[in-house]
Amino acid sequence: MRDERDCDVLVVGAGPTGLCTALMLTQHGVRVRIVDSKSGPVEQARAAIVHARTLELFDRLGVAEAAVARGLPITDVAIHEAGRHVGDMPLAGEGTGDRTRFPYALALEQFETERVLVEALKEHHVEVEWNTAVVELADTGALVGVTTAEGRSITARWLVGADGASSAVRGFVGQSFDGETYDQAGMLADVTLDVDLGVRGMRLNLTRGGFVGILPLASGRCRLFGVVPRELEQAPSQKNPSHEAYAPLAPADLQKWFDGYFKVDARLEEVVWASMFRFHSRIASRFRVGNVFLAGDAAHIHNPAGGQGLNLGVGDAVNLAWKLAQVVNGEAPERLLDTYESERRPIARTVLKRTDLGFKLETGNSAVAVWMRAHVATRVVGAVSRLAPIRRMFFHMFSQLWIRYRNSPAVGPGTGPLRPGDRAPYAEIRPTRDGASSVLDLTHGSGYHVLLFGAQSLDTDRLAASLDDRYTVAITTHVIPPEEEAAHRAYQVSGPLLVLVRPDGHVAAVAEPKSPGVTDFLDTVLTRVKAPA
Ligand SMILES: Cc1cc2nc3c(=O)[nH]c(=O)nc-3n(C[C@H](O)[C@H](O)[C@H](O)COP(=O)(O)OP(=O)(O)OC[C@H]3O[C@@H](n4cnc5c(N)ncnc54)[C@H](O)[C@@H]3O)c2cc1C
Repeated sequence: MRDERDCDVLVVGAGPTGLCTALMLTQHGVRVRIVDSKSGPVEQARAAIVHARTLELFDRLGVAEAAVARGLPITDVAIHEAGRHVGDMPLAGEGTGDRTRFPYALALEQFETERVLVEALKEHHVEVEWNTAVVELADTGALVGVTTAEGRSITARWLVGADGASSAVRGFVGQSFDGETYDQAGMLADVTLDVDLGVRGMRLNLTRGGFVGILPLASGRCRLFGVVPRELEQAPSQKNPSHEAYAPLAPADLQKWFDGYFKVDARLEEVVWASMFRFHSRIASRFRVGNVFLAGDAAHIHNPAGGQGLNLGVGDAVNLAWKLAQVVNGEAPERLLDTYESERRPIARTVLKRTDLGFKLETGNSAVAVWMRAHVATRVVGAVSRLAPIRRMFFHMFSQLWIRYRNSPAVGPGTGPLRPGDRAPYAEIRPTRDGASSVLDLTHGSGYHVLLFGAQSLDTDRLAASLDDRYTVAITTHVIPPEEEAAHRAYQVSGPLLVLVRPDGHVAAVAEPKSPGVTDFLDTVLTRVKAPA
């Protein structure tokens, strides 16, 4: 294999995970290449829900505004039973606006998400190399080399396998994809209906046999989704553990499904795209093997309950990209990269477990599942979801705002209400000259950020200079004055407090500003500036 190490990181796969990885890497000054076997971005709508945490990560990548402009914010799920409206379940809305800038789930077709990311990459002069399938991989320890289908070689220091559920990279590094494939088949279709149903939120119809739903899209189309009754089932073999094993559906079959299960008096006017597929729940045993990382669907797939798939991949991408960037740029020791797997694999396992449980309750034929659907889902959920704390709980669960990395080696020790590893809380602040209007805005941009609360008596310039002198990575200090009451409340400030925020918006350390705890911790995860000889 000819050595032409022309990039620091090679990303294989230009789906949402690979595109986000490449975008964050290039924004951090890393020489990155991204290849994909397809001839261009995906043409189908596929994943159609972008959750609040993902939008916050998009905000860090500078693409949230473009994504929101192309999507439709969804705040509620109307629950129907056999066509009758029985209650509403919140996805966000009232009672959640103080938690994030994006108090909703965004209905956004995957081709739009990918276009936004491809355009952002172009602005950084990174072009996706389409029609480039990786067919061979060798990791020498010092370099990773791949061969493409046309026989070209590309070598890089690190490689990210973001090549989807049927990942070739996963196979090259000898990882199995353990888990299960459900017996049940699912169906997705993007259609236009001949009547306006007035569906503004998501509409879920619970039936004895499972669930079906309608999600309105910004284009005026509707996404139909749900389980497929046995009599309509023609899904491909269960043997291929992939979302990609899907079959196109005849419009007449789709209309039959719609009439029988949605209980809505409408005709499907145009079927833009329809597919039937098996549900899977699988995870790779390692997310890092040598110089190769697995991310997104290449590392984990699960059933679509709650629309978590794409969102989990974007979370992987951001978690991995800043760490790779710091290691490539000589700002952090290589061991930081081990924390990608130790932080993200448990998150993927939790999502797998939750979506499995949700799916079994939504589709199971056991007496418990049928009873839960008939009584809990339709009545109790409808009634209690009007309460603000319950709305907040639902939102927390679906939005991925719950994700945190407490006890990770990539965060410092700490106790108290705000703990290292937690997502840095959102709070509005008075707009700054640089255009920041929330605490999280202050923490955008590469490197770490120090938030100082109750620091009036502190020589903040000296603190900033001492951090700057000690580490090679940029550490920017922001003083949050007492007038910013919402921020003080969100960070539960009761005295002088220093909060160190990582490049992915998670808290790295919480300390009393004058304590040596922060530098003790930073010494373990950052490269120190060498003292002059
Ligand atoms: C039909 C379908 C419907 C779906 N619907 C939903 C949904 O409603 N909700 C939801 O949350 N999720 C859904 N998903 C899943 C969702 O699309 C994925 O979770 C998401 O796309 C994962 O992103 P990714 O970037 O990790 O992988 P992918 O989007 O799969 O991207 C992987 C990329 O790698 C490329 N690639 C593969 N092999 C190679 C190779 N050897 N060399 C180079 N490139 C390669 C592929 O061409 C592809 O572009 C659906 C998936 C499918 C297939």
